[in-house]
Amino acid sequence: MAVQILTVLGSTGSIGVSTLDVVARHPDRYQVYALTGASQVDKLHAQCLAHRPRFAVVLDEQVASQLHAMLRASGSETEVLCGEAALETVASAPAVTSVMAAIVGAAGMRPTLAAARAGKRVLLANKETLVLAGRLFMDEVTRCGATLLPIDSEHNAIFQVLPRAYREAPYAGSLRDAGVKRILLTASGGPFRTRPLETLPQVTPDEAVRHPNWSMGRKISVDSASMMNKGLEVIEARWLFNAGVDDIAVVVHPQSIVHSMVEYVDGSVLAQMGAPDMRTPIAYGMAYPERVESGVASLDLFSVGRLDFEAPDFARFPCLKLAFDALRAGGAATAVLNAANEVAVEAFLDRRLGYTGIPALIEAVLAECDGQVQAESIDALLDADALARERATAWLARLR
Ligand code: NAD
Ligand code: MG
Repeated sequence: MAVQILTVLGSTGSIGVSTLDVVARHPDRYQVYALTGASQVDKLHAQCLAHRPRFAVVLDEQVASQLHAMLRASGSETEVLCGEAALETVASAPAVTSVMAAIVGAAGMRPTLAAARAGKRVLLANKETLVLAGRLFMDEVTRCGATLLPIDSEHNAIFQVLPRAYREAPYAGSLRDAGVKRILLTASGGPFRTRPLETLPQVTPDEAVRHPNWSMGRKISVDSASMMNKGLEVIEARWLFNAGVDDIAVVVHPQSIVHSMVEYVDGSVLAQMGAPDMRTPIAYGMAYPERVESGVASLDLFSVGRLDFEAPDFARFPCLKLAFDALRAGGAATAVLNAANEVAVEAFLDRRLGYTGIPALIEAVLAECDGQVQAESIDALLDADALARERATAWLARLR
């Protein structure tokens, strides 16, 4: 067993912290090469002392010099780098074998792409990479011989129950040839699944980030409440598994025990289950094709008691419908959807936009950008992302 040399992009976030928890359990298997974070200097400093990476990367100069001073004062030799280009450098450095892509949002796309182009083992948590640039990213993974392992719990579950030959090279065949009829993507339904519809305009950021089953970063928590998260995950599944949009069905499952399922042509439905703890998919991705201990508690089926399943409600969750529509529209529509959603969620968390304003803003921006955006290159997609952010910001300004 060769030791994996790991870069954790977004180490200070929810996924980053869970990743380092798994790493710390297996010092014989994993060594940390680089850690990165946007602003939480104290946390990054503590992580550097615990994991002794060669590099720590932050976004701005001031944070970099602060971190550098703190590290030297603690006797650490970790070198501090700064800026977006440095993220790409530590994601693609020759010494690195594996990259955990756990930056939140479209900001994670370039370093994740750099890791894929360098042929790394890419542990993909940053679903926005696939929503923004799914086709081109998957092309690069194939062209450059990268190993892509999904960390998002649903996609990790699907990966686990797909035939091995298919999951490792989905673009060499088709789901049909692999005997797969449908992918059943489960969704918890979030905190507002049963809340009276007429009270949704009053939802506060605190209510939206309080997920019933999972503890996650703020942006994905709001996405889970609106079910945009499931919409982004449908798009993610489309690209990861070379699936058609009609091959993917969303199933609401409030207990979050079944993490997703695959239905085969013979009628078999295979599910992956477990306690809702991201250390399971993280440990799976890190050790694949082996299994390692993750620190996750045993699933206590007697205390779970029952498993419920419901159809998704598109009237309650218009963001889910917008995501399906954008995927069907194709081209750069999903890039526009993602960027508009990021602006909307940030405005909602800052109390500049009401909860029901989120789908309203996204729908307006999709309409405004229709016919104005291209998807044939990464630069074209980044232009689409920028245009959508500009239109979304202007839309917000008109609200005032
Ligand atoms: P988080 O907000 O907790 O952490 C985000 C990390 O990215 C932090 O380290 C932050 O410093 C860094 N970051 C933020 N903006 C950045 C920027 N512009 N440039 C560079 N770094 C930046 O988020 P999270 O919940 O850990 O989610 C990370 C990713 O994983 C997201 O794409 C999310 O959709 C996905 N994901 C998360 C979970 C979960 O349980 N948290 C589950 C599935 C998928
Ligand atoms: Mg998920």
